[in-house]
Amino acid sequence: MNCRCIQRALLRWFDANKRDLPWRTEPRDPYRVWVSEVMLQQTQARTVIPYFERWMARFPTLQALAEASLDEVLKLWEGLGYYSRARNLHRAARHVLEHHNGVLPQTAEALRALPGVGRYTAGAIASIAFNQPVPVVDGNVRRVLCRLFARAEDADVWALAASLVPHERPGAFNEALMELGALICTPRAPRCDVCPLRRLCAARANGNPEAFPAPRRTPATPQVHVQTAVILANGAVLMGKRPAEGLLGGLWEFISSELRDPPQESLVEMVARRVGLDLSAAHHEMLGKTRHAFTHFRLVRTVWLVRLESPVMPQRALGYAQTAWVQLEELPRLALTRSDRRVWMLAQHAMQRA
Ligand code: SF4
Repeated sequence: MNCRCIQRALLRWFDANKRDLPWRTEPRDPYRVWVSEVMLQQTQARTVIPYFERWMARFPTLQALAEASLDEVLKLWEGLGYYSRARNLHRAARHVLEHHNGVLPQTAEALRALPGVGRYTAGAIASIAFNQPVPVVDGNVRRVLCRLFARAEDADVWALAASLVPHERPGAFNEALMELGALICTPRAPRCDVCPLRRLCAARANGNPEAFPAPRRTPATPQVHVQTAVILANGAVLMGKRPAEGLLGGLWEFISSELRDPPQESLVEMVARRVGLDLSAAHHEMLGKTRHAFTHFRLVRTVWLVRLESPVMPQRALGYAQTAWVQLEELPRLALTRSDRRVWMLAQHAMQRA
């Protein structure tokens, strides 16, 4: 297949049709490209836009990000999910400030040495911000290339992408492939009639573009059942801060069972084990269950409201970096997961009823 034809058709289409997105300001700022590419992983552009704008208002430069606290970074990321992305951005900004004079490296290889920067992100920054002719492959690119070349398997998609990326305007070409996948060559009902590659596309010629690539087999998602206690006393609530590393690291939560391999235990046993409080004589009310989907499991939380006469200091913080009694008016300032926001809504409804 003629690479030049594909490059020309795609770039012409991109120049005329690309979306006006806040990270596409010219000249391209490597820091903005980096932040947007990290935010866009597993997340649609329309979801990312308000987060990106708030982020840039608060951390307009790499230095501003490096100098911020992790708590503030996580608070700004709250609701976007995959929180290791925020922690790695913060850590990488500090690394760049310390080891590269605050200037992002320009090659994909050097970029990959930064925390949280994998092959995709390195290729995106190097090509879009620094004009390096290196490929990127995300879900959209994978789908477009598998269809264009009628490949059922995606094992060699990186090699295909590398063979196509031009030396002139490599970043625009990579963005164009991703944009085509997002807007035209969609997973269902691709709009082949308006696609700039329709005359070159093998899957379209076969008559069934949706058959490419072959669907991946996804294993059944396990359910994880945990107990969660909203423990109230004198207008404050007991919160636990998760350790900085690991799933949802650095975020605060209502006292809960661990997310990984939680033991089968009652609410009273869970609270005694994790924070050393004895709730056996305290009034507790089951509020219901919340459900939240993570990448590899579904979380089902049984939520309890517990009222104590007065705040009792926890005797331990098993699996928490710290615990704290937080005034209810201070709660919105903490970085919580979406799942914990749901728990809090449930608790607020119960408190209003009482
Ligand atoms: S012609 Fe259809 S299947 Fe082929 S790349 Fe374009 S939208 Fe995708």
